[in-house]
Amino acid sequence: MKHIELRDILHRIDHKGYPAYKDTRGCYDFPEFTLSIDHVQGDPFASPSKVSVLLSGKSAGFPENLWKEKCRRIALQDYLLRQFGKRIEKVSFKAKGSGKSGLMSVSRPGQEVLNRSACEINPELGDILVRMEIGFPANGRTVNARELEKIFFEFLPQCVKSALFYKALPEKEIADWVNLASDQQYIREQLKQLGLAAFVADNAILPRESGVSGKPLAQAVPFHSPESLEVTMNLPFGGTMKGMGIKKGITLIVGGGYHGKSTLLKALEAGVYNHIPGDGREYVITDDTAVKLRAEDGRSIQKVDISMFINNLPNGKDTKAFVTEDASGSTSQAANMVEAMEAGAKVFLIDEDTSATNFMIRDELMQRVVHREAEPIIPFIDRVEELYGNFGISTILVAGSSGSYFHKADCILQMDRYEPMEITAFAKEQAKQFPLVAAPVPEQKQVDFVRKVMGDKSFRDARAKIKTMGRDSISINRDVIDVRYVEQLADTEQLALLGYILKYAYTNLIDGKKTIQQVVDMIYDTIEKGGMKKICGESYLPCNFAMVRKQEIYACLNRYRKLKLQ
Ligand code: ADP
Ligand code: MG
Repeated sequence: MKHIELRDILHRIDHKGYPAYKDTRGCYDFPEFTLSIDHVQGDPFASPSKVSVLLSGKSAGFPENLWKEKCRRIALQDYLLRQFGKRIEKVSFKAKGSGKSGLMSVSRPGQEVLNRSACEINPELGDILVRMEIGFPANGRTVNARELEKIFFEFLPQCVKSALFYKALPEKEIADWVNLASDQQYIREQLKQLGLAAFVADNAILPRESGVSGKPLAQAVPFHSPESLEVTMNLPFGGTMKGMGIKKGITLIVGGGYHGKSTLLKALEAGVYNHIPGDGREYVITDDTAVKLRAEDGRSIQKVDISMFINNLPNGKDTKAFVTEDASGSTSQAANMVEAMEAGAKVFLIDEDTSATNFMIRDELMQRVVHREAEPIIPFIDRVEELYGNFGISTILVAGSSGSYFHKADCILQMDRYEPMEITAFAKEQAKQFPLVAAPVPEQKQVDFVRKVMGDKSFRDARAKIKTMGRDSISINRDVIDVRYVEQLADTEQLALLGYILKYAYTNLIDGKKTIQQVVDMIYDTIEKGGMKKICGESYLPCNFAMVRKQEIYACLNRYRKLKLQ
């Protein structure tokens, strides 16, 4: 339809009851873009209406080199979304009325650059689609179409013109934003070439402003690599860049309290994502399968084989297919670890601050007093070498209070006033005077991941209700999946997508025959090939999805309390 027709509809329904707004659903051609009204809210207080604008690649005019390649396209999408967001914020609530009347909003990305449903660029043609929410204006509960007319014919076109056309935007800023993504991608590829688990560039700013802000801490001590670990990257755009290469294998981070150990580890956790220019962690890049592992008391565990860590429980429970509704510190950390192996993690990130001590070590005195046979836990320290040797899984571990890991580590870093020093030789020499006493444990050569997922009848009715509660949890038909301790989930929009992924998996894939690995691979393939809309199952794609890694899909499934496995 022509945009004039939208004006006609608006004039016709003015002052009618709110449901008359439903007539506006449809697509309208404006001079610069196509407006699509995908979903109209039921009343002025309900969740706002869903609207999108589509610009042809030709008229938007972004050169192909900014969007042809995937990592660059995602960066451009992110850039445009932020630009559009800045403008739309200024006109939000300029149209007036009751309830959410006049609200105009798009996703507000944080420090990470994620593929989001809020802005999609078509990889063939460069067409740009932006999805947003608009509160259709009302007086009380009657349509105030004049105000909506302002939104569609004045505010929205202004935002589109100034934020989504190449000519209206600063050329160099866009190029820098997108080129950074290529540099980040290059470092990720180099990690594999150079046998590294992570790279932390010199001058990176690791600490954050506060526990609730992702912004860089002002006046932080910039990162500086110890000479012995220095690696040089020849970036495609950013020139040569030096920094610390953390090799595969076992890396230990020690140092006094408050010297920056956890901050370094947190930066490595976040390094599975790309960060925006100015973040300070732009060039902190971690193997993108890396998983942060911690204790998580109280989580549910479904048939996980934790026997490589835990055996002979006093209640006689089977630890080859361990089940509990309320895990302890050590069993939860063991399950998190085995599940991460199942999810294909090649790097484990562990901080003693958030670990179960009895899972990490047993000191000599304790081993003398409490015999091996009376202790169900084979601590991580007795497995860490095998994990690398037999499974190719590296560990980066923060441990400031126990020296036991000195014996196991390939590389030992000491954080000293926020600067890392390599102290491997010195620490190893000192460790000789304190030999490790450990009872031999049977070698673990392989773990089989054969858990098959059973169907769940609460999904039979296709209208499963999905909600997310901030960054903490996802609820599906009132069953709450607690993901607070899935620490690498960076954004609430990732939770929104996970909810829909779970629903899709249960309604389309899970049949009691496929293993959890097959299910997750299929989900991932479907999204990679067909986009997020393939799994969403609605007539329109919600504007608040952000892409997740496979590892987080596993984490979400594993925490679903109704998960049943064979
Ligand atoms: P640790 O784990 O060694 O006890 P943290 O990593 O928790 O120490 O850091 C302690 C404090 O120091 C935090 O408040 C953190 O923000 C701050 N901090 C960390 N790194 C830096 C840095 N490079 N410059 C300035 N402050 C920092
Ligand atoms: Mg700490």
